[in-house]
Amino acid sequence: MKEKTEDHALMDKIVSLCKRRGLVFQGSEIYGGLAGTWDYGPYGAELAHNVEELWRKHFIRERDDVFAVQSATLMPEAVWKASGHLSGFTDPMVECKKCHHRFRADQLSDKKKCPDCGGELGEEKVFNLLLPVALGSVEGKSNMAYLRGEIAQGMFVNFKNILDTMRPELPFGLAQIGRAYRNEIAPRDFLFRVREFDLMEFEYFVREADWQKYFEMWRIEMWRWIERVGIEKDKIHELEVAPADRAHYSKRTIDFEFDYPFGRKELYGLAYRTDYDLKKHSAESGAEMSYFDEVKKEKFIPHVIEPTFGHGRTMFAVLLSAYREDEMNGEKRVYLKLKPEIAPVKVAVFPLLKNKPELVKKAREVYAVLKKEIGAVEWDDNGNIGKRYRRQDEIGTPQCVTVDFETLEKDDVTIRDRDSGEQERVKVKELVAKLK
Ligand code: ATP
Repeated sequence: MKEKTEDHALMDKIVSLCKRRGLVFQGSEIYGGLAGTWDYGPYGAELAHNVEELWRKHFIRERDDVFAVQSATLMPEAVWKASGHLSGFTDPMVECKKCHHRFRADQLSDKKKCPDCGGELGEEKVFNLLLPVALGSVEGKSNMAYLRGEIAQGMFVNFKNILDTMRPELPFGLAQIGRAYRNEIAPRDFLFRVREFDLMEFEYFVREADWQKYFEMWRIEMWRWIERVGIEKDKIHELEVAPADRAHYSKRTIDFEFDYPFGRKELYGLAYRTDYDLKKHSAESGAEMSYFDEVKKEKFIPHVIEPTFGHGRTMFAVLLSAYREDEMNGEKRVYLKLKPEIAPVKVAVFPLLKNKPELVKKAREVYAVLKKEIGAVEWDDNGNIGKRYRRQDEIGTPQCVTVDFETLEKDDVTIRDRDSGEQERVKVKELVAKLK
C-alpha cells in the first residue's frame, strides 16, 4: 500500500515538474484541454527532438542496412482494408448507463459496475480505433481516408519504390519516425495513452528461414537502446504475448513492459509480422511486392520483423527513470539525471553577479564560444547562483559554468556537475574540450 502511494506521488511530481518547467502542457489547455493530447514546451520539444535524433543515430545512421522514409499521415481506405485495420483494429468498449463515461472492457476488473460513478455498465461493443477523415469538398465513400493508426503501412506501401530506387539486398530495414492517431476509448495516465503520438519504428525485411535469428538480434538491440536512452533497465520486463492477445498480423510478439507508477504496462513491442502486409497489399493494389535474389535467381515476398518504440512512452519512461530528489548544501533539490546526449540544455553559463559589467562581458564571451561549439547552451543571470543551479538541475542540465572575479585574473571558470554538485576550476581555453 505504501509503495502504491509513493508511486502515485511520483506521477504527480513528474506531471507538475513538466508543467512548471515548460516540458509538457495539456493540449489546448486554455479551452479546458482536449483529452488524449499533450503539447511540448521549449524544454520538452528539445528533449523530444534529442530522443528522436538519438534513435535515428542508433538505428539508422550507425548502421548500413536501414533506410529512412517519411510517409504521409493520411492514407486511403484501401490501405486500411488491405492491412486488416478496418476490421481488426478494435478495442472492446462499454459505456456507463448513468454517467455515460466509456471504458475499455478488457481493462475493467468488474464489467458490470462503472468505476467512476458506480452505475450499471451497458453491453460490450467493438470500437474501431482508426480516425476517419473526409477529404475534399464532397463527403463520400470514394474520398474516405484515415489518419494512420500505425506508421508501418507507410513503409509497406513504399516497399516497391525502395526496391526500385535503392536496390537493397536482404536483410534490410525501412525506418521512420512520425505521428500516429488512435481514437482511444479512454486516454489516460499522462503521456502513456493518448490519441496522437509519435512512433519510431522499422520494418526489417528478411528471408522466412531467417526470421528467428533476426527476431533475436533485434530483441538484444532493443535492450541496448533502452540503456543508451537512459531508461532504468530493472524496470523493464519482457512479456511473451499469448497467441490470443497478439495483433492480427503477428506470429510472435514480445512486449517490453515498464514499471510505470500505475503498474507494469507496454513500453515497446517486437513483432514478427510474417509476409502478411506485403502479401495483402499486393493482392489489394495489384502491385508486385516480390524481392528478386540475383544470386539464387529466386523471387519471393520477404518476411518482416518489426521493433516499435512509442516516442511519448519513451519520454515518460526517461523522465521517470531520471527523476531524483536529494539534499545538497543543506537544501532539498529535484534533479533530472538525464543522459547528456538527450538533455535539453547541455551547459548553462552564469556571471556570478549581473550588475558587474566586467563579469557579464567575460561571461558573454564564454557563452558565445560555447553556443557556437556546443549549441544547446543557456544564459542565466537571474537570482543567486544556488537558485540558478536548482533551475538547471530540474531540467537535467549536466553542467553549469560560472564566471567570477577569479576568472578575470586567471582566465579560468568553475564547472559544476549536476549529479555530484562537485566544482572544478578549468582554464577558459580548455573549456570546450573539457565539456565535450
Ligand atoms: P496498448 O496495448 O498499450 O494499447 P498496443 O499493443 O495497441 O498498445 P501497438 O499497436 O503495439 O500498441 O503500438 C506500438 C507502440 O505505440 C506501443 O508499444 C506504444 O509504445 C505506442 N502506443 C500505442 N498506443 C499508444 C497510445 N494510445 N498512446 C501512446 N503511445 C501508444
